[in-house]
Amino acid sequence: MNIRFLGTHNSESKDTNPACILIDHFLAIDAGGLVSSLSFSEQLAIKALLVTHHHFDHIKDIPMMGLTFHIHNSRIHIYSIKPVHDALAYIFEYPEKFYTNFLTHPQEKPTINFTEIKPLEPFIIKGYSILPVPMKHSVPSVGYQITSPSGKKLFYSGDTGKGLAESWQHISPDLLVVEVTAADGFLKFEKEASHLTPALLKEELISFKKIKGYLPNVITVHMFPQNPEKELIIRELNQIAVDLDTPIIPGIEGMQVTL
Ligand SMILES: [Zn+2]
Ligand SMILES: [Zn+2]
Repeated sequence: MNIRFLGTHNSESKDTNPACILIDHFLAIDAGGLVSSLSFSEQLAIKALLVTHHHFDHIKDIPMMGLTFHIHNSRIHIYSIKPVHDALAYIFEYPEKFYTNFLTHPQEKPTINFTEIKPLEPFIIKGYSILPVPMKHSVPSVGYQITSPSGKKLFYSGDTGKGLAESWQHISPDLLVVEVTAADGFLKFEKEASHLTPALLKEELISFKKIKGYLPNVITVHMFPQNPEKELIIRELNQIAVDLDTPIIPGIEGMQVTL
């Protein structure tokens, strides 16, 4: 399984994109960096897009991809929970035809084919098994475990706060891609906003090991890109990697990993 990190931060600039990964060139999770990171042919090669939740940084590229797919008479297959469908419908329609509604246009065969999924109900896309797992965020949200045809497993958390013991019960990844948004000094804010800091990640990884008996390799995404906070997060993550004796790598745009 080839995993390409297209967006690994929580904000956008010429060097950073919001959260977004691409698996084996055809399966994307979240839409924070699908347009600016990919050529048109790479965008059109995406056969399925899994979305974790409806916050704007995770859905923002969907309207522009809609136009590209529409121009090429192709379709995007999006899989997510109902609030994501409702948010897209709202964006497309508000206040009056904000943009072409690719959920319903063209009428005979809409450009976006949205499949509503339910947490903990697995499904298959091109031989890859997908398991949506409920996460702890400020709005309904699911992470996804992807199992490749060869049996390699990736879990992508999307945005989440603490308290993941229940979620860990359902997964057994070789690689955990998990959000860590801010440094520990922002603990209060992050608790309120349902995100993780390095200290909170450490608690969750200890909980994972207790439940599953091992620790997967970890790559973190969704962090603030500004210094000095970025340097602080990386320093705190390095310390946790030492404490837990497991690799924890802060993701950067353009990084590729093979499982
Ligand atoms: Zn969010
Ligand atoms: Zn986010």
